[in-house]
Amino acid sequence: MHELSYVINFINIAEQELPSDAVPQTLEVTVGEMTGVMPEFLHKYYPDAVKGTRLEGSDLKVNLVPVTANCLSCGKDYHPGKENGYSCPHCGSKEAKLLRGRECEVTRVNYVI
Ligand SMILES: [Zn+2]
Repeated sequence: MHELSYVINFINIAEQELPSDAVPQTLEVTVGEMTGVMPEFLHKYYPDAVKGTRLEGSDLKVNLVPVTANCLSCGKDYHPGKENGYSCPHCGSKEAKLLRGRECEVTRVNYVI
């Protein structure tokens, strides 16, 4: 259910960014894989969550960002996952810096005036 609170938060931010006489078309959001947010749930909650807001009638577009880690041993970027035991597939190290995957933000609101 935590996707619902993300959706409401995105809508609140988008309402603030929307010029007063604009008609919203699409709300684009960026969500990192690390957040655990499932895009299908965002899409599921969106139509009900926008009712009664300025975003009512608009569509949601979700850009899912895969987790990317940078290995501190060999310097290569990789996708940590179950398939490689969350360690570097190039050298086997688990020492890594997270580069991407924690994003959770409104990318833009597309609208017409
Ligand atoms: Zn490595």
